[in-house]
Amino acid sequence: MTEEWTPGLVLHSPGGTRYHFDPGALCLELLTTGGPGAYARYEVLHRPEDLVQWLGESRLRLPADAVAVSTGQLAAARTLRDALWRLAAARAHGRPGSAADHAVLNEAAARPPLVPQIAPDGTAARPLPADGSQLVSTVARDAIALLTGPHADRVRECGAADCHLVFVDTSRPGRRRWCSMEHCGNRHKVRALRARRDQTEE
Ligand SMILES: [Zn+2]
Repeated sequence: MTEEWTPGLVLHSPGGTRYHFDPGALCLELLTTGGPGAYARYEVLHRPEDLVQWLGESRLRLPADAVAVSTGQLAAARTLRDALWRLAAARAHGRPGSAADHAVLNEAAARPPLVPQIAPDGTAARPLPADGSQLVSTVARDAIALLTGPHADRVRECGAADCHLVFVDTSRPGRRRWCSMEHCGNRHKVRALRARRDQTEE
């Protein structure tokens, strides 16, 4: 890819405002597609095409015609995602997570991943065609690298009480608090300002 691009996803707040969210890792991008328990109502992976669409929006930026996903592979992607949700939340609270969820990651990662390639111009080439099993393996390997790597202690939940987005803080100072400055960071600033104003009016 030669054009400038910023990794991350475009999300919509309940009020319909668009904002940019870069969770810092491919595996954490998958967590925006739904999840276990209370997150099930945010499910967007209903059909194989939905996973292909996520792939196009994720930091992999794979074109829609490049990946073939079966319904079984879609189910595997959802199973991996739900395990990843629990593991990322556990990690954010300083715990390693359950053996059952580790087994889901290990099993997915044991399959062949998307093959990395280099194009004649020296840039990353799209490893295509690919299938859903390779995709699930690639995401699982990314998750294992994250959870066992130097930034494992930097996996955090957004600081806003009503936001459950998870990110990894890869910034040098390591003080990232919000999923997105333009969304939760800004909401916090507005609230803090209002609280200060109310105090002076009393
Ligand atoms: Zn947030």
